[in-house]
This record gives sequence, C-alpha cells and structure tokens, in this order.
Amino acid sequence: MASRETAKRRLTILGSTGSIGTNTLDVVARLGGRDSFEIVALTGNGNIPLLAQQAIAHGAELAVTADDNHYASLKAALAGTGIAVASGRSGLIEAAERDAGWVMAAIIGNAGLAPTLAAASRGADIALANKECLVSAGSLFIEAVKRGGGRLLPVDSEHNAIFQVLEEHQRHAVERIILTASGGPFRTKSLEEMRHVTADVARAHPNWSMGLKISIDSASMFNKALEMIEAKHLFGLKPEQIEVIVHPQSVIHSMVGYTDGSVLAQLGCPDMRTAIGYALSYPSRCDLPIERLDFAKLSRLDFEAPDEVRFPAIRLARRAMEEGGVQGAVLNGAKETALEAFIAGETGFLTMAEIVEQVMDKLSDLPAAITMDDVFAADEKARQLAAGLLHQ
Ligand code: NDP
Repeated sequence: MASRETAKRRLTILGSTGSIGTNTLDVVARLGGRDSFEIVALTGNGNIPLLAQQAIAHGAELAVTADDNHYASLKAALAGTGIAVASGRSGLIEAAERDAGWVMAAIIGNAGLAPTLAAASRGADIALANKECLVSAGSLFIEAVKRGGGRLLPVDSEHNAIFQVLEEHQRHAVERIILTASGGPFRTKSLEEMRHVTADVARAHPNWSMGLKISIDSASMFNKALEMIEAKHLFGLKPEQIEVIVHPQSVIHSMVGYTDGSVLAQLGCPDMRTAIGYALSYPSRCDLPIERLDFAKLSRLDFEAPDEVRFPAIRLARRAMEEGGVQGAVLNGAKETALEAFIAGETGFLTMAEIVEQVMDKLSDLPAAITMDDVFAADEKARQLAAGLLHQ
C-alpha cells in the first residue's frame, strides 16, 4: 500500500487542467502549497500551455498528456525543467501508478476509469470527482478499492455532503438519501423551449462553475442521473433509498434521512473547493479561506419534485439501477456519445435522452460484468449503437 500519512501529502491530479483540477491546485495553494503537498504527477489532454505552467509552478515530477499528438509540444514546453513527460493511455497509467498516497481523479468521462482503477489498485487514497468510475464499473470499482486498501473520498458535492453526514455507527439506520439538484438553466422551461437550445445556452449553469460537459449534463439532469447511480455504489443503497429533490439555491448539498425521522444535511456556498478541501484533508478538517454561507442574506430555500417528463434522465437512472448489470456503463456510454454530438451541433438537446433510452432498450439483455473488460465492452457497444442511431 502506498504511504499515506507523511508530513507532506504526495498528490497526483488526473485531469489537472480541468475545472476540478484547477480548483484542486487552488486548494493546494491555500493549504500551504509546497509546505504541505508534493505534486507527483499532473495530467491533461489538449491544454498543453496550462499543463506545462502547472507542472513548473508546482514542481511536478511527471506531466502527462492523454493525447499522443501533444507529446512533442509538452516535451518542448518542459525542456530543461527536469520534469518527466509522457503521453497516451500508458502515460496516464504511469501517472496513476507513481508513488503518491493521494490521487485526485478528475478526468472527464469514461477516459478516467482505467487510470483511476490503476491508482485504486495500488492502494492510493482516491479523491473521486470522476463519477463515471462508479456509474460504469460500480461494484468492480469498489472491490478494486477494497483490495488495494486505500480510501474512497467522494468529491462530487452531493456525495461529499452525504459522506460528511453519514454517521458510520448509524449506517444500519439509514432510511434514504436525498440528493439535491439545482434544476439547471432549464428548470422552468417547457419541452418546446428546450427542443432548440444550443450547447452555449445549455452550459450556463445558474449556481456552479464547472466544465463544459458536466454543465450540459446538469441542464439535461443526466448529471443527477449519474449521481444517483454513483450514490448507489458508493453508499451501498437500494434504488428506492435514493431520492432527488430540486433545490434551486444549491445551498443544501444533500441529506441523509434516518429511521427515526431525523434528516441530516450539509450546507455551504456552491463552491467545489469545500468538497475538494475536505477530501484532501480527510480525516481532519482544513482551514480553507473561501466564502462563508451568510444565513442573514439567505432569504429562502425552495424545494420541488423533479419533473421526469421534461427530464427523463432521472427515470433512466432508476431503470439502470433496477436492471443492474452493465446498464450503468450502457447509459453512460450512450450519453457521452449523444452529448458529444450535441456539443458538435449534430443533434438536439432532447434527442440525447431519446438516444440513451433506445440504446438501453437494445442492450437490456447484456450479461453482468465479471471483469473490467466486460465493462469496457458494454461501454463500446453502447457508443457504437448510439453513434448509429445519431446518424440514421
Ligand atoms: P473538465 O472538462 O473541466 O476537465 C476535464 C479534464 O480531463 C481536463 O484536465 C482535460 O484535459 C482532461 N481530459 C479530457 N479528455 C480527456 C481524455 N480523453 N483523456 C484524459 N484526460 C482527458 O471537467 P470537470 O473538471 O468539470 O470534471 C471532471 C470530473 O469531475 C467529471 O467526471 C465530472 O463529472 C466530475 N465533477 C465535476 C464537477 C465540477 O464542478 N466541475 C463537480 C462534480 C464532479 P484538457 O483540459 O487539457 O483537455
């Protein structure tokens, strides 16, 4: 198992150039920078100038671009610095396998699965932002973490909230969890209004500042769908124990309901750095100088049931959880393909859920995954089918 409790935390960030990655480096700086952390490896994909700048500023040992085509420019940008450079799938695995006690898993989408799994398998503590690991690989991923012996620390704000208020000694008394959802930019829009929206409109989240794909997933509520499946695996719950409530202010980040009727909630400003700081400091609490919640200025907290007609993603998540097997991987693979087509302007906003549902219909009899290869195969089948349906 990798060494965990050293004076300085040795940290690798998979996906350092993204929204979670840059917020993580911001938290690292606020928690003492090089006095508190040693940055082992940083990875990105296309944003080579930022990756090189981060690697130099934080004294990383290794910088990796996932795209082999960018290897030469990353190598040139880091020439003379002594920072090792790698690329491609093998480069990501090399980053994940370097001896860092802590790994922030913040690559977007299914691309994050293999490197996060490699880090979990060698026993690193995983700060998990990449929800796709649990959505696609579910119990196989949890088993890999258990075998490795590291801790799984949720960074997704809802799961981090539940992790904070889920009392370990009261686990048997958990009746339900309630995931909050902002409702996104289209919370009050009709189906007709949503039909013609573009990616630029859909990415404008009312409360959270996030990457492009997760912002659009929030607008379609596919983000909440993924989070429902993520919660099932993370907290070992039955589908019927997972509720979603729309809470437009995003102040309550999620709640746990117990058998005695008590509901415990975690609240805060909508700022991912709270969850990141919590995960990187666990089991202690850090001293994080970011905005505080001002209750005197909070005039109201609203709640409403999600509309599963306008946002079918919620219904599809329930179906994937109930059917089990590889349906999480199927839902996610089809969703990622449809989302990329939507971003490219090749399909409509509402079509994304239609494509996902059709792919789930066609692949409903796939056998459960026994190995990770079964997960990757289901993901690939879903992508191929979705691409075929999109180009019909
Ligand atoms: P971004 O799109 O902002 O960043 C994604 C990161 O992954 C970047 O470093 C990007 O590199 C890299 N990347 C992109 N494609 C690939 C690829 N094919 N292979 C390897 N690396 C790749 O995403 P977010 O930071 O928003 O989200 C990251 C993860 O965290 C997602 O799983 C998301 O669901 C989850 N999450 C995010 C939240 C947020 O607030 N943003 C909140 C909760 C969860 P480059 O930029 O160099 O191209």
